[in-house]
Amino acid sequence: MRPSIARVALPVPLDKQFDYLIPSHLFPIIGGRVSVPFGRQTLTGVVTELTQHSEFPLAQLKAIKAVMDNQPVWPTPLYELIRWCSQYYQHPLGDTLHNAMPSALRKGKVADFATQVEWQLTEQGKNQLMHNFGRAVKQAKVMKRLEHGPCPHQEFIEEEISSSVLKTLTEKGWIASTEIKPKRHAWPKELCNQPADLRINKEQAVAIATVNSKSGFHSYLLEGVTGSGKTEVYLNLIKPRLEQGQQALVLVPEIGLTPQTINRFKKRFNVPVEVIHSGLNETERLNAWLSARDNIAGIVIGTRSALLTPFANLGIIIVDEEHDASYKQQDSLRYHARDVAVMRANKEQIPIVLGSATPALETLHNALSGKYHHLTLTSRAGLAVPTTNKVIDVKGLYLESGLSAPLIAELRKHLSAGNQVMLFLNRRGFSPALMCHECGWIAECHRCDAYYTFHQHSNEIRCHHCGSQQHVIHQCQGCGSTQLVTVGVGTEQLESQLEQLFPEYKTIRIDRDSTRRKGSLESALESIKRNEYQILIGTQMLAKGHHFPNVTLVALLDVDGSLYSSDFRASERLAQLFIQVAGRAGRASKPGEVLLQTHHPEHSLLQSLLNKNYRHFADTVLQERKLALLPPFTFLTLFRAEANNCDDVETFLRQVRHTLEAHPLFDDNCMVLGPTPAPMAKRAGKSRWQLLLQVSTRSLMQKLLMSSRSVISQLPHAKKVRWSVDIEPQDLS
Ligand code: ADP
Ligand code: ZN
Ligand code: ZN
Repeated sequence: MRPSIARVALPVPLDKQFDYLIPSHLFPIIGGRVSVPFGRQTLTGVVTELTQHSEFPLAQLKAIKAVMDNQPVWPTPLYELIRWCSQYYQHPLGDTLHNAMPSALRKGKVADFATQVEWQLTEQGKNQLMHNFGRAVKQAKVMKRLEHGPCPHQEFIEEEISSSVLKTLTEKGWIASTEIKPKRHAWPKELCNQPADLRINKEQAVAIATVNSKSGFHSYLLEGVTGSGKTEVYLNLIKPRLEQGQQALVLVPEIGLTPQTINRFKKRFNVPVEVIHSGLNETERLNAWLSARDNIAGIVIGTRSALLTPFANLGIIIVDEEHDASYKQQDSLRYHARDVAVMRANKEQIPIVLGSATPALETLHNALSGKYHHLTLTSRAGLAVPTTNKVIDVKGLYLESGLSAPLIAELRKHLSAGNQVMLFLNRRGFSPALMCHECGWIAECHRCDAYYTFHQHSNEIRCHHCGSQQHVIHQCQGCGSTQLVTVGVGTEQLESQLEQLFPEYKTIRIDRDSTRRKGSLESALESIKRNEYQILIGTQMLAKGHHFPNVTLVALLDVDGSLYSSDFRASERLAQLFIQVAGRAGRASKPGEVLLQTHHPEHSLLQSLLNKNYRHFADTVLQERKLALLPPFTFLTLFRAEANNCDDVETFLRQVRHTLEAHPLFDDNCMVLGPTPAPMAKRAGKSRWQLLLQVSTRSLMQKLLMSSRSVISQLPHAKKVRWSVDIEPQDLS
């Protein structure tokens, strides 16, 4: 019998689905979009079930207005994966499905390529190529371009050829347009342009052969320092799969999507390569998505959100720099793209390769325990040599805007040898606080538990947590004194100090403030490569994905914060940053040096990092985590709650705690910590508290959360606060 009711997942913050009647002339399908009335609006949703029965009286149900798809939006395994994400990360299905679609589809557009217009010469036009166009330069340009073959309309728009020019030529009968849809061309026989001089080394060959020797789903960790040839391994793994008509998905961190990376893939293979990132406009994104789904693209390279791209025939997933924090989404569906990628590979029964010089401790643990195959590249494929690493003990030393005298001397040495130097400081702005010299009053954000950062460049004080900003103040609000001084050092101050110290060299600063304009980061990186700047200053933004062969000195200015942080991952992040910058500096003819300024040169983690290697460091930290029952030895869930009223927040989290503890599955393998005020206890005027659940296995954590979920959302205080659940949080603030 024909189903009479469709259950629809809608993009609303409610964790349930809605029943609609199916009019006799409409044929909705599971996994396809429909448009439905919802309150006074019309929404686009996804059908999750077709049925005869509803818990509601039929008379109360409204009818579907329109059906948008006659095939599901996602292939079955991907649709199941998205449903799994919604469950695992405890996010409403409707919103999860909604966000997994390109925005054009969310708005109800057709899930098919728009036809494109293409221009070409007519027979008559071909005889006019020698025609003298005189002052009709644009007409001449069009004819000249078409002499070489058909041209998409888009290209003429980009060349600023007006439609009147095209119209005139059409009326003369010299050119004509046709409408075309992109279609899948068979990939050429000669797929791969491997350079002849590039011989895979032994370790690379072992890695490639290991992955190729197994079929079905397997996870691999490819551990190798920067320049050890990981990308070369990826390319060699992709090749045989393309030859069999399969596609490849390559995930890179947000900042890693540089033209160089993309070009390497494009140059190597004669297949369409689609690039997916947040900068695409709606049409570009839809086209990239369709091109993967319809088997036109051979390779898709993209950041986190590219993970949920549909493929006709996916053959392998690569996650480069798998330790990178940008793989974890920090709001709405708080998924970890690396972890979900492993799940996807499992569902699609294909291999997944996680590459890094500094694997996340979770990944390393999986490799050491045999869950993942562990592949290593130990030698640098290029000519680079290891750096010399040193600490500068700054105890008792005078710091000039964060710089110690020994560091300044080193900078001078490297600069006068004609090299570039790079300085890292993870704090933007001029100084992290503005203080009264007479009474000690500090300019504090009224809405947050935080000081204002002083930005000299814009002459403002800004709160980096709620975004509030105001013109800089010149008078103390405590005692009225005008003697306001800056406290602490940010990248802006470091920059102006270095400009004063080294006026004969050019400095450039790379942080979120200096790279706001689209394309400004790329052009800054290019000018660094061209040696236009000698002193490079940045937050960790500068560390990722770029190789600067002329940099011979790298300095990390303030590592103490990471050694003694309340976030247990801070030391892991410091180690990753350190190895990464060390990997970027120098080459054979110009050996690199890395300096760390610290008050704690004897700290065991620093010593292990400097004198041993990342693995030694990681082993030490893994042992500590094991003793402390921290990930990867346990699994965490962080409940966050905020409200104007501090009592409401605390009460709600107390109720959550009781709910969890009263659960029949809650046993010695589970522990709840809190509620406690969040590290930043007030933000944008709201009180913030948190509660941490620690469970010894993932499956127990899942079961516990799944069956507590509806109880928690119906707790008496759940409506009084804004709350969220973060499964396996990466950031505990
Ligand atoms: P990673 O991805 O680990 O940073 P790449 O694959 O980018 O390393 O390799 C670093 C450099 O070494 C590149 O210029 C690459 O072309 C080169 N390279 C990689 N493998 C080899 C090899 N087997 N022989 C010669 N050069 C290689
Ligand atoms: Zn004062
Ligand atoms: Zn604030």
